[in-house]
Order: sequence, then structure tokens, then C-alpha cells
Amino acid sequence: MNVGFIGLGHMGGPMSLNLIRAGIPLVVHDLDKAAAEEHLALGATWADSPAELATQVDVLITMLPGPRQVESVLVTAGVTDALPEGSVWLDMSTSTPEVARRVGERLDTRGVSRLEAPVCGMAKGAKAGTLQIFVGGAEGVLERCRPLLDVMGDPERVFHVGPHGAGYAVKLMLNQLWFSHLVATTEVLTVGVKAGVDLAVLRRALVASSANSHFLEHDLASVLERGDYDESFAMALACKDLGLSVDLARDVGVPVELSAMVEQIYRRGRAKYGDLAGEMIPVRLYEELAGI
Ligand code: NAD
Repeated sequence: MNVGFIGLGHMGGPMSLNLIRAGIPLVVHDLDKAAAEEHLALGATWADSPAELATQVDVLITMLPGPRQVESVLVTAGVTDALPEGSVWLDMSTSTPEVARRVGERLDTRGVSRLEAPVCGMAKGAKAGTLQIFVGGAEGVLERCRPLLDVMGDPERVFHVGPHGAGYAVKLMLNQLWFSHLVATTEVLTVGVKAGVDLAVLRRALVASSANSHFLEHDLASVLERGDYDESFAMALACKDLGLSVDLARDVGVPVELSAMVEQIYRRGRAKYGDLAGEMIPVRLYEELAGI
């Protein structure tokens, strides 16, 4: 199987390296050729453009920032017209059903299949090959792509969640809930500390209670113990995901006051700390507001 990979960033970089190390021949492309240095040293082939890459592959994997870049690579850069008949476009970006549908309509006319498979597990999961993957699309196409997904993710956590669109929707709902947990948790911890409770004691009590969450028990530790806000997931991407989540809610006609509020708090954090600040920087926002 000839595989192409476009988007060699925090996630796509290590995911594609895992494919190469598993013995899968890879053609790679990114806006920044320096991102492919390690890949080329391990035997991958460089393509100068997305369309040049697309002509050579049975499966094209994209791991791009979001829908704008997906559309630009697939449509503007000519990939939809360059992919061979019978090939597959496997999009692992956190994107939207709407863009994939528009791109998919062009691909359908050319006999190219598509599958969406957005991931969770952070950059460390990408490096370890233990990502959780939410697949939307036809089962038959999933079976063709499964050997690749099993290398990049934990085979036990490659979930087929429904037809096209369902994979993106599950991923956006997961992120929305995690960001909502972060904001809700940070708010109550800040109040508790200002009310005179020791932070470590408060956190231990909450972890042991029915109010526990993955964020409270695990992710918050890197902020509290190491001042690490996880810059491998940038605020620009977090705000992109929250915007897509609120847009999806609007598209399906569900009012989402809390989600919209969390999006605004994240946008405030992005305005204050910048696009490249880590996804957990809103914790700092609350600390500063409370003078902690
Ligand atoms: P990133 O910004 O680190 O990497 C994106 C890569 O795409 C960059 O190398 C960039 O140069 C390249 N790129 C952008 N536009 C391009 C174009 N037009 N042509 C070719 N290459 C282009 O982003 P990331 O953190 O790796 O995230 C990738 C996707 O995975 C996003 O959709 C993100 O929401 C999702 N995601 C990220 C994480 C995380 O922890 N970082 C976790 C789960 C999902």
C-alpha cells in the first residue's frame, strides 16, 4: 500500500514517523519542509506539493489544523483531482462534516473513497502510538485503513462511531466537554482557595468524590506540579475546536449557552496569552483574576 501523509505537526509528525517505523513506505508533504527532516532520514519520500503527492498514493492521510486548511489542500491545491480512482482519503484532522461533505461530493464522482478518523490522546499519545480514534464512514473503507489506524492508535480504542460526519461530531463533543470541565473545575478550585481551603486538600477531596473528572485527576497535575499548560495543543486550535462545536450546535438547532460561554472564556485566554499558549492557559486566567 502506498501511503501519503500531509501535515507533519505536533500530531502528524509522530503519527507518520510511527507508520515509517512500522515499515509502511510513506510520501510526505508539509508547508514547512523542515518538519519532514526525520521522516526523510528514515527513508520517506518528499513531494513538493499536495497534488504531486496525491498522484502516487493508495491512501492519503491528512492531519491539518482545521477545515480551512483541509479545504485548501484538497480543493485549492488540486488533491481531489489528483487522487487515483480507487484510492482513499483518510482525514484525521479535527474538522467538520460540512467541509468533508463538500470535498466528498467531488471525490465520489472520481471513484475515491473517504473516511474521517479524528483522534484524541495529545502529542504524547501520537508519539506512543496509543491514540483513541473516532471513525466515521463506511465499514469496508475502515477495514482497508485499519492496519494504518492500528499503528497510530491503540487498536482497542479505534471506534467506528457511525457514517460520515459522526467521527468529527464525536471528536468535537469530546473536546467541548473537556474544555468545559477545565473551566468549571478551575472556577470552583479558585473559589475554594479564596475561601481559605488548601488547594491540594480541596483537589484530593474532589477527586475522591462524585465530582471527579479526568481533567481534575490527571491533566491538571501538569499545570500544578510543573507549570506546564500543554503547548503541544495550541490555544489557536482549542478556539478553533470550540468554534466548530458551537457552530455544529447551531447547525443542528440545539441552544448551547454553556458551550458558548466556554468558547468566550477560551477566546479571552487566547487574546491575553496568544495563539501558541497551551490549551490549559485559562487556568492562569482565573489565577490572575483572583490574585492567586
Ligand atoms: P500543528 O499546527 O502542530 O500541525 C499542523 C501541520 O500542518 C503543520 O506542520 C503545518 O505546517 C501543516 N500545514 C498547515 N497548512 C498546510 C497546508 N496548506 N499544506 C500542507 N501542510 C500544512 O497542529 P497539530 O497540533 O498537529 O494538530 C493537527 C490536528 O489534530 C488539528 O486538527 C488538531 O485540532 C488535532 N488534534 C491535535 C491534538 C494535539 O494535542 N495537538 C490532539 C488531538 C487532535
